[in-house]
Amino acid sequence: ARRAHAEAGIFAMHRALLQDPALLAAADTLIDTGKSAGFAWREATRAEAAALSAMADRRAADRAADLIDLGKRVLRALARTGGGEGEGEGEGEGEGEGEGEGDLPADARVPVAQNGQPVVLAADEFTPSDLSGLDRSRVAALVMVRGGPTAHAAIMARQLGIPCLVALGSALERLPDATPVIADADHARLHASPDQHLLAAAASTIRLRAQQHQADLRAAHAPASTRDGVHIEVAANIGSVDDARAAVAQGADAIGLLRTELLFLHGDAAPAAADHTARCQAIADALEGRSAIVRTLDIGGDKDAAWLRLPAEDNPALGLRGVRLAQVCPQLLDDQLRGLLAVRASAPLRILLPMVSEPGELLHWRARIRALAAEVRADAGIEVGVMIEVPAAALLADQLAEHADFFSIGTNDLTQYTLAMDRCQPELAARMDALHPAVLRMIAATCEGAARHGRRVGVCGALAGDALAVPVLLGLGVTELSVDAALVPATKARVRTLAHADCRQRAPELLRLASAAAVRDACRRYWPA
Ligand code: PEP
Ligand code: MG
Repeated sequence: ARRAHAEAGIFAMHRALLQDPALLAAADTLIDTGKSAGFAWREATRAEAAALSAMADRRAADRAADLIDLGKRVLRALARTGGGEGEGEGEGEGEGEGEGEGDLPADARVPVAQNGQPVVLAADEFTPSDLSGLDRSRVAALVMVRGGPTAHAAIMARQLGIPCLVALGSALERLPDATPVIADADHARLHASPDQHLLAAAASTIRLRAQQHQADLRAAHAPASTRDGVHIEVAANIGSVDDARAAVAQGADAIGLLRTELLFLHGDAAPAAADHTARCQAIADALEGRSAIVRTLDIGGDKDAAWLRLPAEDNPALGLRGVRLAQVCPQLLDDQLRGLLAVRASAPLRILLPMVSEPGELLHWRARIRALAAEVRADAGIEVGVMIEVPAAALLADQLAEHADFFSIGTNDLTQYTLAMDRCQPELAARMDALHPAVLRMIAATCEGAARHGRRVGVCGALAGDALAVPVLLGLGVTELSVDAALVPATKARVRTLAHADCRQRAPELLRLASAAAVRDACRRYWPA
């Protein structure tokens, strides 16, 4: 039996920080000088976090990261008028029953479950830094009041294989501690105090899924081709050396996306070139000869690193993130590229640039990579690709393809920016569907642009792991799918059921439909999952 616990140790620690008299006094002093509450709070938490980061003590550095997370939550709370009900979104499944595990140590990041049983953790919103280092074996599921299906916390949960429900609204706040729950992420539902019938049904679903996974896994180490013989690479998205090992164990053909920022969310200083080399070398060594696409740091948006003091922005998703960060911190990317170029791997490493919106940016970074390769005496012929995640990049795909070695479509951001829906906005979570025909038109434009110059197109956003979407992506011209390691076996199995010619013929029809729901209906009819 798994145990529910509505308030994690993260909350206990945040409560303690919120009551810190020194922090409150610092904010009060600024308010007394006429500053707004938001300004005062931000300045007070930053000053305290900087003081903690300056200490040599590792626990102080961790507390600095927590303080920054907490600072942002309070600022968000100040900026909004109140919670609201939403629908859950997510993947996988979990179950819960029994009691909570009692009070946690004030500095615990992850609760220690009683009797070694995993728990369902609830929070207003988990952040990426909450989840880095989370012990998968202790957590059955994560459930949040707010959040979005492709917010980075949800992505990290999926990478860890932990089912995650987001945007559950204030109903979750009202749930008492230690309520038994079933977190059914397949149907985006949280069942509180389930009866025996529901518990038995959930247990049976979990058993069947495990059996199906084992069956798919047996075939996952062979390459996947469609019924009519078109090979589709099924790769994995990773953010740690553990994920790299999981990718190999689950049969991934390659690494389609290494989110390098996830390697460096904590810590008290920017990573040096040698840190990049060491972390990437360890990952390359774990891959047993598989190639890897390494994305340069994509900090900003909903991913903050404690050591990077970014200017506050009203719209961080539209601001300094991805390669744009180099405008304010050029050293950061140069150090990373120097570090990456020094990695010695038995299979190719490729560099992927996030948030590119025009060919000039790609040309700039290609030249920079050539110069840095000469400096560190590395091979200047390393392949350089572009994330297609900004509508401008999709629309200029033919121009970008002239200079890029490959494309990787980031459907999470491409959906956010095409639909103008913040991927962390809980009220819009149920409408954030990458199968929206406008997003599909962006993907089609990308594939057409790439085809003009004979470039490969992969998808590394969450859509690649959606069984219903796989035939659509193949039909539009995608030949590489990069998914969470746990989804590799099922994705290969799905590819093997499809006829490529049929996908090619039917996918263009979907671009003429009027909504994501209509696309999903058509997919269910054409290619039942
Ligand atoms: C994406 O945007 O789809 C993507 C893969 O990158 P990230 O989710 O890290 O923004
Ligand atoms: Mg992205």
